[in-house]
Amino acid sequence: MSVAVEYRIGSRRPEAHIFEVELSIAKPAPDGQQLSLPNWIPGSYMIRDFSRNLTGLRARDEAGNPVSLRKTGKSDWVCAPLADGPLIVSYEVYAWDLSVRGAHLDQTHGFFNGTSVFLMVHGQEEQAVEVLIACPAGVSDWRLATSLPAAPGTEALGFGRFRARDYDELIDHPVEMGTFTHAGFTACGVPHELVITGRHRADTNRLCRDLEKICTAQIRMFGEPAPFDRYVFLVMAVGNGYGGLEHRASTALLCARDDLPLPSESEANPGERYTTFLGLCSHEYFHSWNVKRIKPAAFIPYDLRSETVTPQLWAFEGITSYYDDLTLVRAGLISTQRYLELLAQQITRHLRVPGRFRQSVTESSQDAWTKYYKQDENAPNSIVSYYVKGSLLALCLDLLLREKTADRVSLDDLMRRLWTDFGQCGVGLQDEDIPRLATELCGDALEDFWQNALYGHEELPLRELLVTRGLDWTLRAADNAADSGGKAGSADSRARPWLGAKLATAEGGASLQQVLSHSPAQAAGLSAADVVVAANGLRVNGASLEKLVASHAPGDVLQLHAFRRDELMEFRVVLGTAPADTCVLSMPADTDRQRRAEQWILGV
Ligand SMILES: [Zn+2]
Repeated sequence: MSVAVEYRIGSRRPEAHIFEVELSIAKPAPDGQQLSLPNWIPGSYMIRDFSRNLTGLRARDEAGNPVSLRKTGKSDWVCAPLADGPLIVSYEVYAWDLSVRGAHLDQTHGFFNGTSVFLMVHGQEEQAVEVLIACPAGVSDWRLATSLPAAPGTEALGFGRFRARDYDELIDHPVEMGTFTHAGFTACGVPHELVITGRHRADTNRLCRDLEKICTAQIRMFGEPAPFDRYVFLVMAVGNGYGGLEHRASTALLCARDDLPLPSESEANPGERYTTFLGLCSHEYFHSWNVKRIKPAAFIPYDLRSETVTPQLWAFEGITSYYDDLTLVRAGLISTQRYLELLAQQITRHLRVPGRFRQSVTESSQDAWTKYYKQDENAPNSIVSYYVKGSLLALCLDLLLREKTADRVSLDDLMRRLWTDFGQCGVGLQDEDIPRLATELCGDALEDFWQNALYGHEELPLRELLVTRGLDWTLRAADNAADSGGKAGSADSRARPWLGAKLATAEGGASLQQVLSHSPAQAAGLSAADVVVAANGLRVNGASLEKLVASHAPGDVLQLHAFRRDELMEFRVVLGTAPADTCVLSMPADTDRQRRAEQWILGV
């Protein structure tokens, strides 16, 4: 079969981290074929300029005569007009970015996203494409895993030919190659694969059993059938790392190998790290509906050459973040109590960020490109996370819908409407669609709620809604710097001293990572990046300064010496009172209230 656009990718030198790509265009544009490489990858809202890794671009005709080629932009080229196709373009891509967003290749494995390696053929974006993926030179035992549909003749887990309906599909199926662990399970009749690259000792049977529960719960929530006919979890296990990126029929995940469960671990309770990993899998899987198919109108189609701004990321990342842990409890993987701890930690995370009074969640969505993805030391003072606040907004909306309808309607119903009215038919979401649907479902415009939740800077009605739902809500000061909330903590109700800076141990002292607005540290003149070397005349590091602060009382004065760059400065800090920004949620003793809370948590 001959296709309009065909790619070949392989490597003669995996040890040099180089993929060689050849692109054949049957009918190049008569006035000169334009080509470009995406500047960003969907799901990760930052300009990454993948063309920085592209070298040796050449073009020729079928007989091998060179065709001249001119660079017209940072990631754009145009070839001289060619009377008769095919036009053949070849280039190399340097692949040494071990993240879920890029491409990576060495003698142990290869991974790529299409956005890093496949040039877009302008005017032919809608054409079906074929890709020949060849096994890199010098290896014989590698297998290949991808959700990209295989062409006839390509064996399961084999190298060979693959097909995509268009360029958009081509770049939405990452590819892993190497000597990975491979396992599988079925959820609602759909085959799922689990691929783990990197050294690990994980209990793959348990992983499959747990993932199956997550996938089944989500497919059932949106309604069968699942929107794909197979799904692949591509996991890269490393010493230390965390990340995930969603795709239409797969996800690329990066985790620490210690996040994965060992065969020796007890089945009863997933540990903290494994719970986080399951939450990540659940998050990316939920995106198969929410953002891969239910999308903001601005993403249809994606403009991969420049920033695409939308005020709706709160819905796509926030609602997804709300459901990631909620799915774990609904699938029976964690207890209700554990879920409440995770939710309380999320609330705590939100309450510790003064930026929530300065940026709305829609502004945060729009500022993803310039602020969320480019956080600096001032981030907690100036921005609010559309993930964290978005998930809490989703929680409020869920509880409001239930309250207004005596539990006849929940956020699950709204998600199903988004799926049938938008996702299934490929209609993009406008900014007012979610509030409109909520009104349709519960018969109340919820105007005050939406106005503040989406555009305002006031607190969300979290406490009222959770207490109405039957839960016990407490706010207390943090026990110590590592206290992320959730658990009840110390019963000691004494006011706690507060510096208002995030500390880390640096060479020669305690370095200030962040200084919070209106904190005692800021009032004393301390800045992020200052290195405190002594407190009250004694040398300190991050841990000892933390301890020293904790041993004092609000109102006490600390005399600090700190270096700003190479200049020694002296600061007089009057310790404040630690804010009650640590949330604890618990199930009430009363069985009636318990039942109300469980009705929401378990979705029954
Ligand atoms: Zn996400």
